[in-house]
Amino acid sequence: MEEITILGAGLSGLSTSFHVGHQKCQIYEAKPYYGGHIYSTLRDGFTWDDGPHVSFRPGEYVQKLFAESVDGQFVEGPTCVSNYYRGNWIEHPAQSNLYQIPEPLRTKCLDSFLETRKKNPDPAQPVNYQEWLYQAFGPVFAETFPAAYTRKYWTTDPVNLGVDWIGERVFYPNIEDVVNGAKGPLDRLTYWVQGWRYPLKGGFLSYCNKFVQGSRIKYEKKLSKINFAKRMLWFDDQSTTQYKKLVSTIPLPVFIELSEDATQDVREAASLLRCTTFLSVEITLNHSAKRNEQWLYVYDEDKLSTRISIMENFSPNNAPPNCSGIAVEVYGSPYRPLPTDHPMVGKKVKQELIEMGLIEDEQAVTSLNVRHSPWGQVIFDHNRKPALETINAFLDQFGIVRVGRYAEWGYLMTHDCVLSSRDAAQIIEQK
Ligand SMILES: Cc1cc2nc3c(=O)[nH]c(=O)nc-3n(C[C@H](O)[C@H](O)[C@H](O)COP(=O)(O)OP(=O)(O)OC[C@H]3O[C@@H](n4cnc5c(N)ncnc54)[C@H](O)[C@@H]3O)c2cc1C
Repeated sequence: MEEITILGAGLSGLSTSFHVGHQKCQIYEAKPYYGGHIYSTLRDGFTWDDGPHVSFRPGEYVQKLFAESVDGQFVEGPTCVSNYYRGNWIEHPAQSNLYQIPEPLRTKCLDSFLETRKKNPDPAQPVNYQEWLYQAFGPVFAETFPAAYTRKYWTTDPVNLGVDWIGERVFYPNIEDVVNGAKGPLDRLTYWVQGWRYPLKGGFLSYCNKFVQGSRIKYEKKLSKINFAKRMLWFDDQSTTQYKKLVSTIPLPVFIELSEDATQDVREAASLLRCTTFLSVEITLNHSAKRNEQWLYVYDEDKLSTRISIMENFSPNNAPPNCSGIAVEVYGSPYRPLPTDHPMVGKKVKQELIEMGLIEDEQAVTSLNVRHSPWGQVIFDHNRKPALETINAFLDQFGIVRVGRYAEWGYLMTHDCVLSSRDAAQIIEQK
């Protein structure tokens, strides 16, 4: 029996095995391929990722590993991102680019922002994201832009979200930034993602190369039951195995559901965890991209399109010359179910892109594919923290190590997954 058993061959599972030493690990993966959420699909000369994936702010350690994965062959650039609002393009973040917001909305946003800051120069700690937005931007901007986007991307009202995920992710401007940004562009970028790297070839998946080399993966081994007391795993091909030390990178609610030992309170806690799910509408065009941005946010609530990626703006190898590959994310969750009529979604998204000027006309579309990703963003609603505490306390009793976005149930980006797996490798050695 291998010393360490790992569930899942996404980046977190591969990176845990890499850090522990592949010869000591056995990975079990449900799918017939590795990469998990950073898997890239190559089709008819186009490369697709699962939503926009760039490496940003990875820190020196992860940056080096990613660079070695692709033999130094990556594209690097400043972030170029915009927002679409009712026929207008506004650079991101909109709060420091009010000058691109049409009048009279621009003045209303500015006045409501200034009034809020004047009335409440030293606000109390907000208890939910809505309070945070109102304090940061004033009610007019807050409702028109981020609250609308929250309903589309997080699939619920901002009042239902906590504030523990925000950090630097949403730019909290000072008064001068907003006032000056209402007159014209600021002399600095205020988006927290300022620069990025992306593999030159093979899509984001190529960043796995270093981690997968030498790993021992059994594919099409979907965990179907687990018993922590007996240290037993069952898979859906009817096979079973025992483990000495276990690392899970699979989604926490699934892991608990499959556990024979989970108590009622732990099961109830797991049933409260919420995550978004999304459709990727992948459209190929016979003309080059109409815009230079890598990705775009869409604020109009009557549009399904939420975030749009222009694939060849990450790497020119992602699309054939003079063609464009556009991927559009459409979100759902238990709060707001995802549409089930995928052809309708594809059709509507295509019309939206024509309206936004990203597709010339119907004839420019050479293919359209709609793909479902069951796990998107962990929703930081008010249940998350207490539910997670109950589940973590239970799993800790059995020494189960959790690594990655869905096993830790947090806002982990790829570099966070690598760093978390490095820490986990040390913990496992000590167990
Ligand atoms: C839309 C979107 C955009 C993103 N953009 C970025 C970005 O720009 N930059 C960035 O750094 N990060 C980004 N991320 C985050 C990044 O994708 C994740 O942090 C990372 O891929 C998570 O890796 P993981 O290994 O923890 O999980 P996963 O990739 O989900 O891996 C888990 C693995 O477990 C397997 N599995 C599941 N259930 C079972 C089972 N029952 N039995 C066996 N195996 C099972 C799965 O098949 C999968 O291979 C984005 C995420 C999303 C959703």
